[in-house]
Amino acid sequence: MTRAATADQQQRSSETEHLDVLIIGAGVSGIGAAHRLRTQFPGRSFAVLEAQDDRGGTWWTHQYPGARSDSDLFTYGYRHKPWRGSSIAAGGEILNYLDEVIDEDDLTGHIRYHHRVTGLSWSSGENRWTAQVHRSDTGERLRLTATFLWMCQGYYSHDEPYTPEWPGTELFEGTIVHTQTWPDDLDHAGKRVLVIGSGATAATVVPAMARDAEHVTMLQRSPSYWFPSPTVHELATMLEPLDLPPEWTHEILRRQYITQYDWLASVSRDSPAEAHEFLTETIRPLLPEGTDIEKHFAPQYRPWQQRIVIVPDGDFFEAMREGTASVVTDTITEFTEKGVAVSSGEVLEADIIVTATGFNLSVFGDIPFTVDGEPVDFAKRVTWRGIMISGVPNMAYAFGYFRHSWTLRVDLVNDVVGRIFDQMAERGASTVVPQLRPGDEDMPMLPWSDPENFNAGYVMRSQDRMFRQGDRDPWTHMHEHDHERAVLPEADLDDGLRYR
Ligand SMILES: Cc1cc2nc3c(=O)[nH]c(=O)nc-3n(C[C@H](O)[C@H](O)[C@H](O)COP(=O)(O)OP(=O)(O)OC[C@H]3O[C@@H](n4cnc5c(N)ncnc54)[C@H](O)[C@@H]3O)c2cc1C
Repeated sequence: MTRAATADQQQRSSETEHLDVLIIGAGVSGIGAAHRLRTQFPGRSFAVLEAQDDRGGTWWTHQYPGARSDSDLFTYGYRHKPWRGSSIAAGGEILNYLDEVIDEDDLTGHIRYHHRVTGLSWSSGENRWTAQVHRSDTGERLRLTATFLWMCQGYYSHDEPYTPEWPGTELFEGTIVHTQTWPDDLDHAGKRVLVIGSGATAATVVPAMARDAEHVTMLQRSPSYWFPSPTVHELATMLEPLDLPPEWTHEILRRQYITQYDWLASVSRDSPAEAHEFLTETIRPLLPEGTDIEKHFAPQYRPWQQRIVIVPDGDFFEAMREGTASVVTDTITEFTEKGVAVSSGEVLEADIIVTATGFNLSVFGDIPFTVDGEPVDFAKRVTWRGIMISGVPNMAYAFGYFRHSWTLRVDLVNDVVGRIFDQMAERGASTVVPQLRPGDEDMPMLPWSDPENFNAGYVMRSQDRMFRQGDRDPWTHMHEHDHERAVLPEADLDDGLRYR
């Protein structure tokens, strides 16, 4: 560490630094929020606090073989910054894209790595938030204050992935790894690999490992819907010879993908049997002959109740056809020395077991919040349009789509937050807080995610800890993009929000 950095640190720890806006998290949401401040509110002071030692959030944490997006980058990329690559991108390419945003907006000096926020308290008397921060690089404990808090911490714990408890794991003589905590030195060449899981991560890691492994078996308890998607959209191929400005290509492909998603969402909602048929029949010719589609690829739930697994260029199916990957649908009874025993009585032998079993949902980074000394129990609060929380002043949060590209929603949310800032400035208000309107007090407190609509395992496991929604606007969340892109830009900023 340089002498200047040490002096700077000492100064920071001896005084409490105050900022207009404090952004928590330097993933795609936090960098998007910082871009918004930089370009729309250049006069505001702000910092981005990031617990990890680098930017990227999800794309920094997840370094397993083949880590890539499963949605297209024209909608996953920001609206303002053209994506110039193929639709599906590797984690490293997404990090490069974020680096370009950091450079273009000159954000480097604003992002503070190794800064984990451990507590957030609002004082109405002082009209500000105080953040307790732990620096993991120096061990220091700092305090920062801010007028507005922009929570961009994502939706799951980056520290501890979800692993179910199975009997006998300690007996297994090989290596067990979780995709979220991938070791740098794991050599899977020539090994028998068993991947436990059935979602996008399993679909990515299986073909990537199958290239060098002896064989990769994916073991799932129940099937998901799968859909092959070209890495390069045919429309992108058609546009290429036209030598269009990148902004045009970005916008055209963005609209194309949005139209595709809208179609899939509406057919899943309105004609689920037809959507089921479409999804299962599309993959039939890609699978090895004789594959039991009903058993392995035909879920019991309606399409769109969980994220559809996108298979770029059908690489997973190709590995199955080549015989380097296979699928088993069964329930684990126990781990043994040699592998995993399943209900059928079979033991799936392996040298490496990969648990692609997902996340632990985290509510606002599991940071304890207080408002005027009272601890905030988010499970007793309702969301204001999936952007703010009832009774929590001067705090917005970024929450994207689960089934569309995350960032598609984050851009819409950032527009609303920008409008709220403008509204506060116009009125000379220093505080904005969501407050139930007369007549809303007896409103039912519904789960944040209606299981009829979206029931992914990580959401269902943690529903009880999440904030709630009401049965009417503006206290609802989890709408589709086709609804929100019309409604959010027009959202009445006086409806359910109080300014002081
Ligand atoms: C492997 C994988 C692939 C995915 N692929 C896609 C995809 O293709 N398309 C899609 O739409 N979505 C995808 N997702 C979902 C993905 O999480 C979101 O798209 C998006 O990256 C979330 O960005 P974020 O910035 O909101 O949160 P995150 O990426 O989770 O970043 C949050 C950041 O906040 C930091 N943070 C949290 N708590 C604190 C704290 N207390 N103090 C300081 N910092 C804190 C974290 O360290 C992290 O860096 C994928 C998720 C995973 C895990």
